[in-house]
Amino acid sequence: APVVQMHGINKWYGRYHALRDIELQVQPGERIVICGPSGSGKSTLVRTVNLLEPFQQGRLDVCGVEVGADEITRAARLAVNRRVGMVFQQFNLFPHMTVLQNLTVGPVWGGGVSRREAHERAMHYLERVGLLDQADKHPAQLSGGQQQRVAIARTLCTRPQVVLFDEPTASLDPEMVNEVLQTMESLAGEGMTMLIVTHEMGFARRVADRVIFMDQGQVIETAPPQAFFDAP
Ligand code: ADP
Ligand code: ADP
Repeated sequence: APVVQMHGINKWYGRYHALRDIELQVQPGERIVICGPSGSGKSTLVRTVNLLEPFQQGRLDVCGVEVGADEITRAARLAVNRRVGMVFQQFNLFPHMTVLQNLTVGPVWGGGVSRREAHERAMHYLERVGLLDQADKHPAQLSGGQQQRVAIARTLCTRPQVVLFDEPTASLDPEMVNEVLQTMESLAGEGMTMLIVTHEMGFARRVADRVIFMDQGQVIETAPPQAFFDAP
């Protein structure tokens, strides 16, 4: 079954029509890149998938959690948070905690995972993103690129079925963009299902199965990346 299904999703912020008749299916293992101009609704779309934004028309099924218009319950949000990972432009790490504590706090308090299991997962995913040696540091001691890799590891610790990325490299200094993109690319290589908002078209070309182009709240084109980048 698809990991994400959006049918006829419409969303308004007040009178502003932010999402128009969105139809989207994400299959297991699929990597979808969403691109389009600033203000076209990309962020709103991924935040809708994560139930961070309510919508006024349509139906949404995320990892088997079905949600109708204006009926997002606390239970649905909790269920989705356990199955869906999200990486934002801002890293949102807890500044007073170590890297390791940042990774274990979610699974222990929100996910019903034992401390020992949370610790094992944390070490595993820190190694996975190449930051095992930074486990006892505080976020402020790390570079922006390292902090974003910690944020990715933190999401992986919840064992998500799909990970949403909302411009994960947009706030990084240019020399740190590649380390984060490489981490994401290796996740893609392992079959992770990913929905990614990014302006990094080289990355999209290498990694995306499909690119979705949005404008004014609509999906105006869906195609393999070659169709966008090799067009005359
Ligand atoms: P993108 O991610 O493509 O830059 P967004 O999804 O952030 O676009 O925003 C789409 C449109 O919705 C923009 O015009 C933005 O100003 C508007 N918008 C986003 N969030 C809100 C909000 N909380 N309240 C009102 N308008 C919003
Ligand atoms: P991004 O480019 O990452 O989508 P934005 O700068 O568009 O970020 O938005 C940052 C935050 O401000 C989001 O939470 C968004 O919902 C909110 N926001 C954006 N536009 C508006 C708006 N016109 N009115 C109120 N909130 C908004």
